[in-house]
Order: sequence, then structure tokens, then C-alpha cells
Amino acid sequence: MRVLMLGAPGSGKGTHGARVAARHGVPHVSTGELLREQIAAGSELGRIAQPYMERGDLVPDHLILSMVVDRLMNPVPAAGYVLDGFPRTLPQAKAAYEVALAAGLTLDAVVCLEIGHDELIRRLSRRGRVDDTTETIVHRIDVYEAQTLPLLDYYDGRGILHRIDALGAVDEVTARVLNALDRVAAERA
Ligand code: AMP
Repeated sequence: MRVLMLGAPGSGKGTHGARVAARHGVPHVSTGELLREQIAAGSELGRIAQPYMERGDLVPDHLILSMVVDRLMNPVPAAGYVLDGFPRTLPQAKAAYEVALAAGLTLDAVVCLEIGHDELIRRLSRRGRVDDTTETIVHRIDVYEAQTLPLLDYYDGRGILHRIDALGAVDEVTARVLNALDRVAAERA
């Protein structure tokens, strides 16, 4: 099962992505986490990415693409994966689709966690990551709306988009996500 978790910062992509990955026995691949590891390791990619991340801007597409291809193509996780935070722009999505199509590895499902503006700001203000300051939070939500929301139409057009209400108890939202994916798996079987 190859799944993409989409949603604004604070929508719970990381939490639910990890749970879906555990349930399906596949790796949870978070580009935000991979980038934070690069920063912690002091790599060149980390040094380049850090200022973008601190501002709440997106890291340039070509850097992200080579990092993800590196993580997912050699070797390819045989049972699939849960992608969290990539693709985040239309150029990333189109480039990833080209590579995936050639390799027979296109996505089975895209889960979009939907949640209102005020709730996002409330959640992010409590989280306390270095890029979770008030101005950065508002900016990251703007960036999400401008650059990532267009992906919804793109994946809907491919017939693989599942919109999930992300408001409610964490376990309840996880159950909604897992149910949607069980239906996808049943349709494929
Ligand atoms: P996240 O942990 O998913 O919220 O990502 C944290 C930060 O990493 C984002 O605000 C971006 O600066 C950067 N980032 C993560 N994934 C991507 C991506 N696919 N494209 C560009 N920047 C990304």
C-alpha cells in the first residue's frame, strides 16, 4: 500500500501517518523529519534547508525530490510506504508521478486531513517546535493554502483522494483514516 498523507501543518498528518504505517507494517517517510535529521547531522542539505524551514517556506523542489528519490528508490520498500509531507507542490507531485509511473509505484490512496483555520492555530501554538512561532505558523498555513491545496484537485482527478474530517479525538480520526484505507484495499483485492 502506497499512501500519501496530506493536510495543513497541525492537521495531524505526522501522528496519523505513523499510525497508518504501523498498522500496515510499512515505513513512515516524513520529509520534514528527514530534513530535521539532515540539519541535526550538519549535512550540506541540512545547512541549505534550515533557513527555509525556520521561515516556514518550502525547501526548493529539486532538493526535496532528490532526497525523496534517494530514500524511496534504493531500495524500494517492497510492502509500500506512508508519505508524509511530500509531495507538497504541483511540480513535486508531477515529477514524483513520472518517476513512480515508470517504476510501477504510483500512489494507491491520498488521505487529506481536513480541519478549520482556528483549530490549526490552536494546535500549532501548543506544539512548540522551532518553526512553531506565531508568525511562522500563519505563514506556513498560507504556504499550504497557496502551494499544497491545488494538489487536492490533482489527486481527485486521478480518483485516489479521500477527504477525512480531522476534528475529534485522535483515536477516532485514526479509525476514520484506517477505514478509508481498508475500503481502498478491499477494492483493489
Ligand atoms: P513538516 O514537518 O512536514 O511540517 O515540514 C517542516 C518543514 O520542512 C516545512 O515547513 C518545509 O520547510 C520543509 N518541507 C517538508 N517537506 C517539504 C516538501 N515536500 N517540499 C518543500 N519543503 C518541505
